[in-house]
Amino acid sequence: IIEGTDIVRTFKMGEVQVRALRGVSVKIRRGEFVAIMGPSGSGKTTLLNQLGLLDTPNSGKVIIDEIDTSRMSDKEKGKFRLHNLGYVFQDYALLPELDASENVYISLMMQGKTKEEYEAAAAEILKAVGLGDRLHQLPSKMSGGQQQRVSIARALAHNPRVLFADEPCANLDSQTSKEVLDLFKKFNKEKGQTIVMVTHEEWHAAYADRVIRLRDGVNIE
Ligand code: ATP
Repeated sequence: IIEGTDIVRTFKMGEVQVRALRGVSVKIRRGEFVAIMGPSGSGKTTLLNQLGLLDTPNSGKVIIDEIDTSRMSDKEKGKFRLHNLGYVFQDYALLPELDASENVYISLMMQGKTKEEYEAAAAEILKAVGLGDRLHQLPSKMSGGQQQRVSIARALAHNPRVLFADEPCANLDSQTSKEVLDLFKKFNKEKGQTIVMVTHEEWHAAYADRVIRLRDGVNIE
């Protein structure tokens, strides 16, 4: 489903060139749950951002479902992301003034449906992540684990081809992390959801089918 070839990404920090990715090639198959691991600074987030079209490499290609994304304009990429990709971040990134249901249905709003249809779709996915009884709660009234569930519901509401998760459990205790990872596993196994997750915990990576290991901007495994 995703083919990244010879991805190079460098950042300019004043006079210094940081070579975050030095030619990384990866293939992720449809329905796979893949973890990206490696020491701090090894390029995990940078790789996720290239594969998830949140950033543009200096050179190399990312092909998603046979679509060569290196030929897309920024606008086309934005549209592609909105319709085809989902994201979960370590800080949840929910809109604080919106309740759980509203946080989810704003991610559906390009589908041209009625408000009632959006609400029904949001309720359905929130039930699937175990929040059927908190549809109208504000993020500030929820635990970290519950907020992360809302963000997972938002990421999955439009049936993305790929779900990208960057350290989704970094701010959660072990028990809550386990619940979130169980949820990923459930969507992966039951719905065939393709998932790419950055983590630095081996036991989180054990939920994945396969691990891509980075060191100093190259993949070693
Ligand atoms: P961590 O586990 O600490 O989150 P990581 O493996 O995800 O690290 P990246 O965040 O991908 O690593 O960073 C890889 C390298 O690129 C680091 O040296 C980092 O400082 C650098 N880098 C990443 N993003 C930028 C940026 N926007 N500007 C400058 N340097 C950056």
